Amino acid sequence: MFPIRATLVLLLALAAAPAPAQTAVRGRVLLADTAGADSLYAFARWRAPGDTITRTDSARVGADGRFAIPVPAAAPMEIVVDTRGSVRNYHPALARITAAESAAEQAFVLVPRRWTIPAGRFAGQTVPISADRARRPVCEGCVAFWLRVEGFRGPSWFQSWDAASFPLRIALDRENGVPRGAVPDSSAFWRIARRMEDDYGADLFRPVRFADADPQDDDIDPNNVILLLADATLPISGLTTLLSRGGRVTYGTLRLRNRALVLGHEGPRVVTHELMHALGVGHTCAWRSVSADLLRCPDMGSDELTPEDVAYVQVLYRVRNVQRAARARWGLDAAIAGERAILLGRPAD
Ligand SMILES: [Zn+2]
Repeated sequence: MFPIRATLVLLLALAAAPAPAQTAVRGRVLLADTAGADSLYAFARWRAPGDTITRTDSARVGADGRFAIPVPAAAPMEIVVDTRGSVRNYHPALARITAAESAAEQAFVLVPRRWTIPAGRFAGQTVPISADRARRPVCEGCVAFWLRVEGFRGPSWFQSWDAASFPLRIALDRENGVPRGAVPDSSAFWRIARRMEDDYGADLFRPVRFADADPQDDDIDPNNVILLLADATLPISGLTTLLSRGGRVTYGTLRLRNRALVLGHEGPRVVTHELMHALGVGHTCAWRSVSADLLRCPDMGSDELTPEDVAYVQVLYRVRNVQRAARARWGLDAAIAGERAILLGRPAD
């Protein structure tokens, strides 16, 4: 989609007869880790209305992370942030913007191509990160691991909780259990949850009383809480549903078929799988995973977190947290498009 070599050749050709630069598309680049900055450049490609050729220009990303590429006024364009060096620590970021958007600064959070797990059972392990794999649905029309929530306009966000919500509050809900009063065995549930946290290397969950999970007066739903229920009507072992607004999860329910399920041999797998859903991720068949869709890839299943599970959740949260804090529009979406178009030679979408 955006071959860098072709871009450079075109640049040389354009140098002889430059288009009049009337303005600039501006941007800034943030890194989702501290692996060390590549020698980064921003490239813009556009075709002005009535123009017959596609024009390209580029600019080096400065030490302050900012860039400005001279362009004629207002045109829809593609912007790519990538390295020109031989080592690529981050996925190329590819953004398509409208003419109106080209007037505003475009902020990118670059997604690392390798993630070293900082703590927990896999501390020190480095996992290759492919944004494309994390977005590969387990079947046509099925969910992927990173779940994208389409907004009406502007950025598409990936389903996740605010950083301030952690450790996520979990409350036993007796009132809505089936049969009424039934709840999963709490101590067994929390043993599995604590094991998951030890594997992950962070505090993810904390128990709260149901009374403390009540909604505020002006809210319909409980806030910042996951309700844990037993539900004998479930046709499957477990089911987690989340409520999110603009990708920002505010409430969830985690249902297990009965009180004893957490005590049996399938307890660790089912509870860890559902707690991964509670963190906001879907299913995958792209690596061995506790989040594997066992109907579609039974050989990829795991009873506990794998290094890939930990790394892909940590990258999801790191990128979204940097994005939200900096109000940066481009993150995982641009990395997925960039990896597909530039590294894999496939359509970006
Ligand atoms: Zn599932």
